[in-house]
Amino acid sequence: MIIVTRRGVTDAELDHIRERVEALGLRTHLSRGEHRTIIGCLGDEARLQSVPLHSIPGVEAVHAVLKPYKLASREFAAEDTRVPLGSVELGGPEIVVVAGPCSVEGADMMEETARAVQAVGARGLRGGAFKPRTSPYSFMGMGESGLQILADVRASTGLPVVTEVMDTRQVELVASYADVLQIGARNMQNFALLTEVGRLRRPVLLKRGMSATVKDLLLAAEYVMAQGNPNVILCERGIRTFETATRNTFDLAAIPVLKAETHLPVVADPSHAGGRRSLVAPLSYAAVAAGADGLLIEVHPDPETATSDGDQSLDFSEFADLMDGLRAFADAAGRTVAGATAAV
Ligand code: PEP
Ligand code: MN
Repeated sequence: MIIVTRRGVTDAELDHIRERVEALGLRTHLSRGEHRTIIGCLGDEARLQSVPLHSIPGVEAVHAVLKPYKLASREFAAEDTRVPLGSVELGGPEIVVVAGPCSVEGADMMEETARAVQAVGARGLRGGAFKPRTSPYSFMGMGESGLQILADVRASTGLPVVTEVMDTRQVELVASYADVLQIGARNMQNFALLTEVGRLRRPVLLKRGMSATVKDLLLAAEYVMAQGNPNVILCERGIRTFETATRNTFDLAAIPVLKAETHLPVVADPSHAGGRRSLVAPLSYAAVAAGADGLLIEVHPDPETATSDGDQSLDFSEFADLMDGLRAFADAAGRTVAGATAAV
């Protein structure tokens, strides 16, 4: 249930409305927008029936929220949520691009990659230090020394870092280095992990599970938000279907569906969706046309030698071309994208 308040509602009125609702054992969630303020009510809504809500000063309207996700639903927020990433925000007018290798492989390659992607407009650096691999014999990542490399590169370039946390036991460690905690597709329904990252305020990049529906993804976001962390970024990264021509099937429609269902920012990962470098640019452009707020792109100084996901990783010049090509699509979508800067 949401309570929409009157324009100009006072703080005292808001407090009073919340007290009345909370006295019935429900939780309230306040969302203040420029034009309106919404009080979301969580819990046993049947109890609210005993209260003539419309008669409380400051109440304008009361609406049921029929979706199983509440905090993540568009109705619960007065305006789109913007999640901070360094000096920019995800969910604002700018299409934010985060780029970097699949795995952190060493200090030099991270520094080199960070400078190359930053020079052509990337706003964040990605790279896994803990890697979820389908085979237990594959490279598992550099662990904490990889996190240290990410922090060092952030210090020298200013680029915020996005890196995956796979296990509740690693949350504290990864959070002590990362600007954004990535929850991978294979962990989207690891509810203990979602709960743990929800206890922090650090932004969470939540990737869609490969057999998860849009509703499942939004309910996973709800887990994080229910713990008090509002900073969730959703990521469409392709799902499993019968199609084998691509690594996964990029669910383009999920982007506008998510944008309609939720106030949270939505990004796309065309690298894991397509699985081949030739598909990264067209899928990126499509994602921007469909309303994505950002892109997560795998870039490697020498994709041929990458320890993971080399086939889908762009080299520096391919990434520069992608950023160039993106501008026209961003323009057409009424968005901006950061331009090339002088070398840093
Ligand atoms: C990744 O971003 O490197 C990754 C492992 O992604 P996903 O969880 O989407 O497979
Ligand atoms: Mn990868």
